[in-house]
Amino acid sequence: MSTKKFLLEEREIPTAWYNIAADMKQKPLPLLNPGTKQPLQASDLYPLFAKALADQEMNETDAWIEIPEEVREMYKIWRPTPLVRATGLEKALDTPAHIYFKNESVSPVGSHKLNSALAQAYFCKKEGVTNLTTETGAGQWGAAMAYAAQAFGLELAVYMVKISYNQKPYRRSIMQTFGAVVEASPSMSTKAGRKILTDSPNYQGSLGTAISEAVELAMQTPNCKYTLGSVLNHVMLHQTVIGLEAEKQMEMAGEYPDIVIGCFGGGSNFSGIAFPFLRHKLNDGKQIRVIAAEPSSCPKLTRGQFQYDFGDESGYTPLIPMFTLGHTFSPANIHAGGLRYHGAGTLISQLRKDDLVEAVDIDQLDTFEAATLFARVEGIIPAPESAHAIAAAINEAEQAKKEGRQKTILFNLSGHGLIDMAAYDQFISGDLSNYTLTDDELNQTLQQLEHVI
Ligand SMILES: *Cc1c(COP(=O)(O)O)cnc(C)c1O
Repeated sequence: MSTKKFLLEEREIPTAWYNIAADMKQKPLPLLNPGTKQPLQASDLYPLFAKALADQEMNETDAWIEIPEEVREMYKIWRPTPLVRATGLEKALDTPAHIYFKNESVSPVGSHKLNSALAQAYFCKKEGVTNLTTETGAGQWGAAMAYAAQAFGLELAVYMVKISYNQKPYRRSIMQTFGAVVEASPSMSTKAGRKILTDSPNYQGSLGTAISEAVELAMQTPNCKYTLGSVLNHVMLHQTVIGLEAEKQMEMAGEYPDIVIGCFGGGSNFSGIAFPFLRHKLNDGKQIRVIAAEPSSCPKLTRGQFQYDFGDESGYTPLIPMFTLGHTFSPANIHAGGLRYHGAGTLISQLRKDDLVEAVDIDQLDTFEAATLFARVEGIIPAPESAHAIAAAINEAEQAKKEGRQKTILFNLSGHGLIDMAAYDQFISGDLSNYTLTDDELNQTLQQLEHVI
């Protein structure tokens, strides 16, 4: 009898997050002030973020950063999460590969996002902040932040991309149930929103616009900070609990992964599963491949440019060194809403540039085929985002079969898809299509990049 599931005790929840920047030989380039093009200091970020988070953002010296006991206490609600051997999938693929997944879908909001939301809410609360703002695309981050804000007694205002606000009303009601105020973006409540609505009244919104609105409100409200669900270094840091637990669980399984895979939006769940394993590659020269799986309609790591770019559409954020499709890039309306972001986080971008991270891009229909197979043999309906990681894992398992070699594959199941059934409905009725991005389309937004590097 083989063991199917590897569980840790509560006391084995990590006591520190892993900060990969400390171990990187090639340090990431600094964030720049867009006006002066001078490197930012942590203190430049204090108006926008809690000090502790701004300091974590810039920290390149401490490999381990202690997880506050209050945050670990909250993690205990659903952590440690299970590591599962996907024996059903192995059998269906008839592959010699051993496939494992880390199940982050068991969190109260159904995704990994709560790992960072709770940490961000805690540090804000500790510094006397009373109000938070954030943006959300499909609503997963907004839901996580709404729960976290409530847990630490903070008020939260969420700007939700208008098209999702209308198309995904349940995500909005989840945030409202947790006590957040939710506004469709663009809205009339900010200068950025009013300008866009005046220029194009029917604009359905984008993550970039929603970020501009959330940042603006935070800057103008006393005792208010902005929070972000991906891309930034401190968010990647908080997510490393995923990989640190998985590391112990793989040990329990008596294996070490040859390949680690995560789907890729801004990079938080990918970093979470991958960084703790990458540290063995950086520090001990361990042979391991880590693969980021992104949508072919939003392929920043596979087809983007490494350049300084803004994190938002209006250009309010610092200049961020990253693989980007250009901050004016407007991705196709695929169902994996969490992967529709134009750039990749700074840490991942540097690691990708140094060939320590690989990337693949995957068509929408392939992700839903993978998701459906996974649901049937493992009993979990995955989020459309997570389906990218599943598809990439299946590709690797099939490759192992072709080569007739045993390989151990670990992927992150970043969330479940139970609130995404409209997407599955479309797939089942044959109404889903692929979106291929032409070089011409891509060049249009890339050409607008300033060439700071
Ligand atoms: C938000 C989200 C993602 C993408 O964001 P990353 O920061 O790249 O992890 C992936 N999966 C799920 C379930 C999400 O909610």
